[in-house]
Amino acid sequence: MRSNVPEIFGSMVFNDAIMRDKLPKDIYKSLKKTIEDGRDLDISIANVVAIAMKDWAIEKGATHYTHWFQPLTGITAEKHDSFISPQSDGRVIMEFSGKELIKGEPDASSFPSGGLRATFEARGYTAWDPTSYAFVKDGVLCIPTAFCSYGGEALDKKTPLLRSMETLNEQALRILRLFGNNSVKRVTTTVGPEQEYFLVDRDVYNKRKDLIYCGRTLFGAKAPKGQEMDDHYFGAILRRVQEYMEDLNDELWKLGILSKTEHNEVAPAQHEMAPIFDTANIAIDHNQVTMEIMKNVAKRHNMVCLLHEKPFAGINGSGKHNNWSMITDEGVNLLEPGKSPHENAQFLLFLTAIIKAIDEYQDLMRVSIASAGNDHRLGASEAPPAIMSIFLGDDLGEIFECIEKGTSYKNQGIGKMEIGVHVLPSFPKDTTDRNRTSPFAFTGNKFEFRSCGSSMSVSGPNIILNTIVAEELRQFADELEPADDFTDALNELIKRTIQEHKRIIFNGDGYSEEWKKEAAKRGLLNLPTTVDAMPTVLARKNIELFERHGIYTETEVGSRYEICLDVYSKTINIEANTMIEMAKRQILPAVNRYIGRLAETLSIKQSVDPLIKSGMEKDLVKKLSALEDKAYAQVNDLEKLLLKAPSYDSDKLACATYYKDRIIPAMDKLRSYCDEMEVNTASELWPFPTYGDLLFSV
Ligand code: ADP
Ligand code: MG
Repeated sequence: MRSNVPEIFGSMVFNDAIMRDKLPKDIYKSLKKTIEDGRDLDISIANVVAIAMKDWAIEKGATHYTHWFQPLTGITAEKHDSFISPQSDGRVIMEFSGKELIKGEPDASSFPSGGLRATFEARGYTAWDPTSYAFVKDGVLCIPTAFCSYGGEALDKKTPLLRSMETLNEQALRILRLFGNNSVKRVTTTVGPEQEYFLVDRDVYNKRKDLIYCGRTLFGAKAPKGQEMDDHYFGAILRRVQEYMEDLNDELWKLGILSKTEHNEVAPAQHEMAPIFDTANIAIDHNQVTMEIMKNVAKRHNMVCLLHEKPFAGINGSGKHNNWSMITDEGVNLLEPGKSPHENAQFLLFLTAIIKAIDEYQDLMRVSIASAGNDHRLGASEAPPAIMSIFLGDDLGEIFECIEKGTSYKNQGIGKMEIGVHVLPSFPKDTTDRNRTSPFAFTGNKFEFRSCGSSMSVSGPNIILNTIVAEELRQFADELEPADDFTDALNELIKRTIQEHKRIIFNGDGYSEEWKKEAAKRGLLNLPTTVDAMPTVLARKNIELFERHGIYTETEVGSRYEICLDVYSKTINIEANTMIEMAKRQILPAVNRYIGRLAETLSIKQSVDPLIKSGMEKDLVKKLSALEDKAYAQVNDLEKLLLKAPSYDSDKLACATYYKDRIIPAMDKLRSYCDEMEVNTASELWPFPTYGDLLFSV
């Protein structure tokens, strides 16, 4: 029996309906107004809201509250405080004040700050983001908050996101005014993140140290069957997985998360959940909760949910497709082609701004998705390459070409394309949707940024998208506002921008080798790894961009740069050490035992008849002994290399570069010897589950 969805939906959320119901009318109105205007909440209002929120949360079984925030680790953090307040007579009452609601002071010293706290204050504070509703999760009232240092530097991923939404709003409004729209009050960014994940059986998982420590396999020969039959994608969902998905949906729905679509993905054991899109900061809060709930629900089903970008070599990894658009408070999606020449001109201008933005800030787009895990996935013939480009589809591509060249658009018998004069033909949606190889694809009424990694917060990518598009809209508005003839200026601007930035448009196969060559010819950036990408964030033009729009100060950019490289080095260090442990204590002893068994069999056989031909034993003993020696030597090499690694406290770029150039190749070599031993060793002696065991465990 499935639960009653409308009844449970949002039942654990202190949402608008609940607020209207529980708050005195004037308080509710003031709160709404504060939220709409983005101002600070008055303490007298906060006190009333806090009491209502606490009473509601207690009804839902909460005993504690937390300021729920997103530090720069990319996961969410919470510190639980109980509502109890001791009374003089030894009893306790449950208390929660407005002060506690709007501001918290967690001990910030253990969160990464990339040097920010060294130069400023040691403590940080959290502040309620009233645009994202509070909710009850596992008996705790969670209050979505931003996290800053006392100097005001953002120590989290929410603060800059809210700043970027604000700047995009401002600049988009300037453009809409130019098109004569004086009634629109607000433009918000909308996000729908599709989340991919793997499910493996927990008992099998528990036998793999690499999955436990690193979230991905560091060894493993290919299973006889992988994804080559394409029989998993959209295939019938196994009962155990079905039960998991039903449970997951229930939990997400209770928290008001609009989980909409679920299906099997390409690789065996791989699945996807897509939510209905929402305002960017809410969608991102929800995605953070979704990842946590996915893992928790899996435990209840004796499974483990893997969110790593590349848990298994040789089959697809997991991404998060970040669907992104802009919507007005009048309900107009600014990336939806319109029905009138006027609407289309506006649509084309926004699209042109995006094209220019992606071309000029390819580096930041790449940086926004950089992580050690995602490096394995990008360009591995399953995910877009590290080169940024835009897919527009044939129809739109042709329209832009006509505008650029001033030629006629033949499809609909339209003569010379004049912006603001012609109606765009309506193109069937699915012709725009099916290029899966593009990092940034127009899909009819939104863009899909496909390079995002499955485990990462999509705050970063959306901060960049909002900011770079705001920057181009700012330049466009600066140019168009003083123009005498708006339509002429608009035509000229769009035409010129396409001419200057069309190199970023690519509708072909992003996975192909030819594209790499072609992209190089076009002068597009190819930054294959995190270490290649990160230094570009410090370029003058990028610092200026962030400062102009009030997203990050130079110090804040520096802190993010340092943290990203630091996490990269530490991730690879943990992986290398895990490999050493598995090789020395599991793989080599197992192979050694098998060699011993073969040698023993050989000697028994020969003691029976010295002339007996024991080809198999001899052959395998020779082969495995040679591999064993190579692997052993390689383990020693890797250990030595790790000893020589620069300390984490030294130059972050030098350290990360060492891990990339020295440690990763040594790890790859060790893996290749071990995987070859695996396929030559008796399975009963192999010390942990194989790829086949893992991928077909559920
Ligand atoms: P697809 O054909 O790629 O499955 P869908 O229309 O089903 O396309 O949408 C995929 C994802 O994009 C969903 O998560 C959906 O909520 C999201 N999405 C749709 N429209 C928008 C929009 N205007 N802004 C942001 N995300 C959107
Ligand atoms: Mg998609």
